[in-house]
Amino acid sequence: MNLLDFTKPELERLFMENGQPKFRALQVLKWLHQKGVRDFSKMTDLKASFREFLSRELEIRIPEVIQSTKSSDGSVKWLFKLDNGEVIESVVIPEGHRVTACVSSQVGCAIDCSFCATGNQGFSRNLTLGEMLGQMWAINFLSNVGDVTNVVLMGMGEPLLNYKNLKEFLKFMLMDHAYGLSRRKVTVSTSGIVPFIEKLKVDCPVSLAISLHSGNNELRNQLVPINRKYPLEQLMTACNGYQESAPRKFITFEIVLLDGVNDSIQDAFAISELMSDYGINAKFNLIPYNPFNGGIYRKPSEKRIKGFQMKLQEKGYVSTVRKTRGDDVQGACGQLAGVVNNRISKAVSSEKTKIARVL
Ligand code: SAH
Ligand code: SF4
Repeated sequence: MNLLDFTKPELERLFMENGQPKFRALQVLKWLHQKGVRDFSKMTDLKASFREFLSRELEIRIPEVIQSTKSSDGSVKWLFKLDNGEVIESVVIPEGHRVTACVSSQVGCAIDCSFCATGNQGFSRNLTLGEMLGQMWAINFLSNVGDVTNVVLMGMGEPLLNYKNLKEFLKFMLMDHAYGLSRRKVTVSTSGIVPFIEKLKVDCPVSLAISLHSGNNELRNQLVPINRKYPLEQLMTACNGYQESAPRKFITFEIVLLDGVNDSIQDAFAISELMSDYGINAKFNLIPYNPFNGGIYRKPSEKRIKGFQMKLQEKGYVSTVRKTRGDDVQGACGQLAGVVNNRISKAVSSEKTKIARVL
């Protein structure tokens, strides 16, 4: 049994069933997630007999690190091999006093956004709690960039479609005896799975980032296919509901800027209108498209990016252009793509090319 797959209550139950007091769980979690100790025999404030029990019954298994590549800007991309040979990626981004871990939630992604390398690879499965925590543990204790201060669920996958494990993972990020981060330093990024935005609000309202990309249903349907199921009206209503629980009461919207597709001044204006229609306290994160092998879009010129940003700012919204980090190791947004045993039929694989032509 992998200890990383246990929630805190599950661990408490296991220990109590074996004659231990409940607080042993917190002691063990502290060793593991705060001190980075994986070897039970080194958990010196535990009785020898309990340490033997732990070594006999449990192991602490993180996904196998097969590579960590440092980019010229200091960010490090980690490749992890899972038990069935599939590969997932995480990125750690140091910036001033901040160290941000970008964690994956699934092997591949079923949402299949037309501009995303992960989506292009198809979908295999959800990551287990242990695989998600394992990424965080490795980044925190095996890289020499300092302790992680911020966590973003912006690696491979749609985190809200792995809701059960996401929720438990988030609890560990916030738990005093584990990573102890504040809610505003933990961000879930989603393509807009409305029912789970509503659940997250109740269960664990961390910072929320919505991958919006367009304020127009027709275009968003093409870019983010899940928009056909949860169109903008529903998404914006859910965002409005979330913001009262959100840390600092705002929602971040990510917009991947694709040259000539969604990056005009009119596109920016439509987005600002959408925000005011739904009373959203929004901040924008503009992400110039990161190209990848097989990608069908282009990155807009600086002038177009600036124009888009200015329009949103003029309308009173804080809008930052995300610096491309880690792109020389293919670790930038949307470039993450491990080895995925795709389980989705790609019968309509020409669809994306068709869409690009239409646009
Ligand atoms: N599935 C989640 C989180 C992972 S994607 C989501 O979509 O929000 C993290 C961010 O990278 C998203 O905002 C996504 O839109 C963006 N992204 C995907 N492909 C990209 C690309 N090729 N260039 C730039 N950003 C991209
Ligand atoms: Fe999935 Fe996010 Fe990529 Fe869309 S952008 S395919 S939701 S990982």
